[in-house]
Amino acid sequence: MTEPSFLGEFSQGNGQLAVENPATGEVIARIKSYDLDEIRALIETADRARHAWAARTAKDRANILRGWFNLVMQNQSALAELVTAECGKPLAESMGEVAYGAAFIEWFAEEAKRTYGETVPSFAPDKRILTIKQPVGTCAAITPWNFPIAMVTRKVAPALAAGCSIILKPAELTPLSALALEQLALEAGVPPEIFKVVPVTDPKPVGELFCSDPLIRKLSFTGSTAVGKILMRQSAQNVTKLSLELGGNAPFIVFDDADIDSAIEGAIASKFRNAGQTCVCANRFLVQQGVAAEFTAKLADRVGALKVAAGTEAGSQIGPLINRPGHDKVARLVSDALERGAKAAVGGAASDKGTLFYQPTVLTGVQSDMEIVSTEVFGPVAPIMTFADESEAIALANDTPYGLAAYFYTRDIGRAWRVMEALEYGMVAVNDGILSSEVAPFGGIKQSGLGREGSKHGIDEYLELKYCLMSGLA
Ligand code: ADP
Repeated sequence: MTEPSFLGEFSQGNGQLAVENPATGEVIARIKSYDLDEIRALIETADRARHAWAARTAKDRANILRGWFNLVMQNQSALAELVTAECGKPLAESMGEVAYGAAFIEWFAEEAKRTYGETVPSFAPDKRILTIKQPVGTCAAITPWNFPIAMVTRKVAPALAAGCSIILKPAELTPLSALALEQLALEAGVPPEIFKVVPVTDPKPVGELFCSDPLIRKLSFTGSTAVGKILMRQSAQNVTKLSLELGGNAPFIVFDDADIDSAIEGAIASKFRNAGQTCVCANRFLVQQGVAAEFTAKLADRVGALKVAAGTEAGSQIGPLINRPGHDKVARLVSDALERGAKAAVGGAASDKGTLFYQPTVLTGVQSDMEIVSTEVFGPVAPIMTFADESEAIALANDTPYGLAAYFYTRDIGRAWRVMEALEYGMVAVNDGILSSEVAPFGGIKQSGLGREGSKHGIDEYLELKYCLMSGLA
């Protein structure tokens, strides 16, 4: 079977939403932007159709999802081409993202069959108690541009597995991957009314509609904390259920007793994936004084050798930043740190590879009051601070309103447990720089969000627990 070129297909359109390739600035597609009346009608259709979808057996839904997973993997290269074209990441990373995104479909195809209820020992002889799990109903999702495949499947697959219908608004910058996923879902047998992707040029009124339409029972959002707070306020009107995966400020701690070479590998993987544009990217490096010189020198060596190039170029490791505001924010944070006394061990300026490229950078002499420490950088910049002892490391790491991911390196087993328990984060990796997987619960605490995605817990976000009491049995 030959793979279709989604890019070729989407480039034919002439809608109002223009999609640009961040590596070149070229418009690669003009697609339809849905208006609010159309979206309202699609919500009504989805809500009517959901009952029949929920009434199908779990195995039936699982088989359809399994078919969708297979189609996504059969089209891995074509989808990866699309991801790199609209989001900029190196092609090898895009291939990885498609496989990662597909894994959520596979996982939730399996989990569809395991939404068990329970029986509960009764409080009276003539009564029996049981619980059942039922689909929440019609759901809405809003996704970001940095993982245009995986952020979609992470929401849509559990919703469909649970027996819900779902309307998804993708990011304006990267709607093509979501549309391609929708095409493949339909091909696999997902009824068209049950899953609908609605790109728009202006997200604000759609967020308002999702929160005000009483047919929408659940909204799942991944994006900035600022927008998450807006949606949380708006969702109060109907008490719409919410899952929020918001910003982070991940610490990456290296203790004196760490395996430094392994910490360097982890640092590169954690910090420089997608040019530093992931919500779990290491945002601040906290290095114990005794190993700071060695860690910094080795990291600067590796970072200086990273290949900056368009994602389609062979061997590219750092692609462009997503857009002008994203690029300017990184440049501003670095300039501010440099002006206030930090030093660039490598990088520290825009790259000459193209207008949105930034040099992979390592900053030393960073202080906790610099903006780069408290702000999510979303760029290929590693700011290094030093600390004296374990308690200082924990205090610095927890000194943030965010609580998504944290990383630390140590070979002391007691310290591993102490620090893992002390870090106020939803996810902690010890001696590793990558922790995302469909089998593990992804999510944050504090202002990083509500709810978990992936794992056996991810489907619960789309299920209601009903308590059933049966009485009069005496
Ligand atoms: P980022 O900084 O990653 O672009 P955003 O939170 O701005 O983060 O965007 C994430 C998603 O939220 C995108 O799909 C975007 O269209 C959407 N979005 C932005 N503003 C709003 C809003 N006011 N209401 C609803 N969705 C919004």
